[in-house]
Amino acid sequence: MSKYQWSSDLVASLHEALAESKRIVILPHTAPDGDAVGSILGWKLILEHACPEAEVTAISPDRIEDYLRWMPHLEELLSFADEPERCLERLAEADLICHLDHNTITRLRHASLIEAVRTSGARRLLIDHHLDPDPDFDYCISLPNASATCELIYQLSLSLGYRAAISPEAATLLLTGIITDTGRFMYSHLCPELFETASGLLALGADYAQIIDRLNYHNPEQQLRLQGYVLDRKLELYPELRAAVLTLSQQELQQYGASKGDTEGLVNLPLSIEGIDCSCFIREDRSQIKLSLRSTGDFPVNELAQEAFGGGGHRNAAGAEYQGSIEEAKNIYLCHLQRLVASRRAAQPHD
Ligand code: 5GP
Ligand code: MN
Repeated sequence: MSKYQWSSDLVASLHEALAESKRIVILPHTAPDGDAVGSILGWKLILEHACPEAEVTAISPDRIEDYLRWMPHLEELLSFADEPERCLERLAEADLICHLDHNTITRLRHASLIEAVRTSGARRLLIDHHLDPDPDFDYCISLPNASATCELIYQLSLSLGYRAAISPEAATLLLTGIITDTGRFMYSHLCPELFETASGLLALGADYAQIIDRLNYHNPEQQLRLQGYVLDRKLELYPELRAAVLTLSQQELQQYGASKGDTEGLVNLPLSIEGIDCSCFIREDRSQIKLSLRSTGDFPVNELAQEAFGGGGHRNAAGAEYQGSIEEAKNIYLCHLQRLVASRRAAQPHD
């Protein structure tokens, strides 16, 4: 059976809703990553082609990090951080709001943005791969076994008969999200459908060489130096828990002239160590602590992020926010980690 299990009724009613919509707004989660930016801009380009009557607006809650600033059509993205009034206006006028790469409107972060969505008369469509979507979407495409929201945008576009609307640039955007959310095809969801999707996007003209080039060979010097520092000085291993913790303060970040985008990918590095299959990166931002968690195998870091901090994500990649100090966040994390490891060991069958 296909992994993409939306019913033909859902596709038909979605087709009708899209054809009827005159003003469509597309939203990703706060601090958008490659999958969030790729999916909202890719979906925008596809809809502009497939539904030429509609005015389509993509709004990001926050500014886009430097490592993604090369993505095609980024200049068409409205930023709530820069132009809040204009974004709220577009939302007030919308007749369809598409929520991409997030399962709940609280992931839009800003109270006025959340309120604008709540009070809007627009119909709301979810396309996402996180667990536990809010129950109140008018159309809900939620597949936690998809590698990326970009994979769902591609497959749904095929189901809607929009293949011809996927331009080479839209294909590049969608493939970027798949490449970043799968860690260059190294993490979870490595099933045949994923590679079929990638192959379909390549056939449509996705520029794989450009994506790999931009993601790997244009990083600022301070990013590599910061990585060296963090790995040498700030890596703590807990072999009995098969876990690693990395921490970074604002002061250390500033010392390297680095920004939080320069820490992208750091959390994955400790997983390369034999005997470590859970990694946590704790970073002090201006107004809060940000935690990023990664694991290999079946260790569920989303449960950990949820239970310890009310965060969430996927089994092998999750995150959370915390108000307090790095030390406190680390202690809370370790405490929950110990408990989870103990309960999983207790549940294992004995010889
Ligand atoms: P990252 O560590 O790259 O920020 O996030 C990894 C995954 O965890 C992403 O799928 C993201 O959606 C999810 N995630 C990150 N931060 C949060 C958070 O504060 N709350 C929730 N619910 N999910 C998060
Ligand atoms: Mn995603």
